[in-house]
Amino acid sequence: MDRQFHLTINGKQVAGASSFDVVNPATGEAFAQCPKADEAMVDQAVAAAKAAFPAWAALPVEERAALVEKLADALHARIGEFASLLTSEQGKPLDQAQYEIMGSVFTLRAFAQMRIEPKTLRDEGGNKVIEHRTPLGVVAAITPWNFPVILVMNKLGPALVTGNTMVIKPAPTTPLTTCLFGELCAEILPAGVVNVICDQNDLGAKLTGHPDVAKVAFTGSTATGKKVMASAAEGVKRVTLELGGNDAAIVLDDVDPRKVAQKVYGGAMANAGQICVAIKRAYVPEAMYDEFCDELATLAKAAVVDDGSKQGTTIGPIQNKMQYDKVKALIEDAKTRGTVLAGGDAIDRPGYFIPPTIVRDLDDDAPLVREEQFGPVLPVLKYSDIDDVIARANDSDMGLGGTVWGKDLARATEVAMKIDTGTVWVNQYLAIDANIPFRGSKQSGLGGELGEAGLHEYTQPHIINAVALEDA
Ligand code: NAD
Repeated sequence: MDRQFHLTINGKQVAGASSFDVVNPATGEAFAQCPKADEAMVDQAVAAAKAAFPAWAALPVEERAALVEKLADALHARIGEFASLLTSEQGKPLDQAQYEIMGSVFTLRAFAQMRIEPKTLRDEGGNKVIEHRTPLGVVAAITPWNFPVILVMNKLGPALVTGNTMVIKPAPTTPLTTCLFGELCAEILPAGVVNVICDQNDLGAKLTGHPDVAKVAFTGSTATGKKVMASAAEGVKRVTLELGGNDAAIVLDDVDPRKVAQKVYGGAMANAGQICVAIKRAYVPEAMYDEFCDELATLAKAAVVDDGSKQGTTIGPIQNKMQYDKVKALIEDAKTRGTVLAGGDAIDRPGYFIPPTIVRDLDDDAPLVREEQFGPVLPVLKYSDIDDVIARANDSDMGLGGTVWGKDLARATEVAMKIDTGTVWVNQYLAIDANIPFRGSKQSGLGGELGEAGLHEYTQPHIINAVALEDA
């Protein structure tokens, strides 16, 4: 690719201190160069965001929101370019890449409509107590490689509308769409309001520990999230952590197994399973277990696994070599413990392709059941007692999402209430929307994103508690 990409620092497009290869996971070969920042550039980006903060925070919210709308319009206008670059660096099929960009546009527009009004907490006997919400300052936004664009918008929308400025750091294997978005920010926003720096997994700690960063908004693995939390401790920084998950799907005994298997398959295999809230283990009643597993296997065998830029591809490659090796190792281990009904072997071609894989007859302590696979592999487990399966679903350090499938909606909802996660979807999956708060329980996260609650995460409550002077 001839195109040059830049960092965005203080409203300018700047070259990196060095550069590194970005690999197309469908070929395993480099297709573009990414500029790499050094530590001095992290300091420059944070200084630019800090300098831009007072004027940006002082703008009326309507003006900030109008600029966020303008960013949404600019992204929308270039959807084809963004989607094609996203497929090249991330691997997802082009239609799913377009869907991610459209979702990003909707997210920005949704936040541009949200407001936090001052709240009167008391107004009696001459005592007026009002809660205002003030911005925090410089927000460091750190994102992973599975949804490189929309996960930036989940942070940028609320951060900018509430008056914060930002330094964004994408994952090193999917940095280019964020660089391209930095260009839009430089064209539309005042200098320094949004800065973009790229690294090779070496500048995150410098950024999160920076004394002038007020908040870290992080999406990524639980292991890295713990490091982020530790480094934020020194400055008592605000942190939002959106971390890993091991979502269970519980299928109840009153459903049509074939119909529900199709939905569970969709929830497990979208984005090649690389979704924090993908279905990562399915629990199915004993009486319909064989039929359910066979339907999943039929669907898996019909998948079109190929380069995401080819029309008709339903599943693209795994995004990077490290994850590809991890998923292959989990499958190899699962082969020794259970029965593989579909898939099971990486495809012998360049790139990181693993076909959708269905594994049955595993015990609950198999690594594929206990760990987050983050790939197109679904273990299907049997149950006969509803209380027991609820306990098995909850037996995890993770608590991000989950699904319950049942014809009797009241009963399915009752089961959902007993699942100890931030979100449980009933008879649907991945129903994430900018107006509905999203947050993990247990080690899946801290604080949250989206919805009005997500907006609050970028503000400090500021209580003004006043009484009139009696005799002054
Ligand atoms: P990761 O933790 O390896 O990397 C995430 C980001 O953190 C990258 O930008 C990386 O460069 C940066 N980073 C690395 N070391 C750092 C450090 N010491 N300090 C600060 N930042 C550092 O995660 P990943 O492999 O890119 O993403 C996959 C994980 O993300 C999965 O576990 C998935 O479940 C999770 N995820 C969660 C959500 C959610 O909303 N809960 C959404 C998407 C992905």
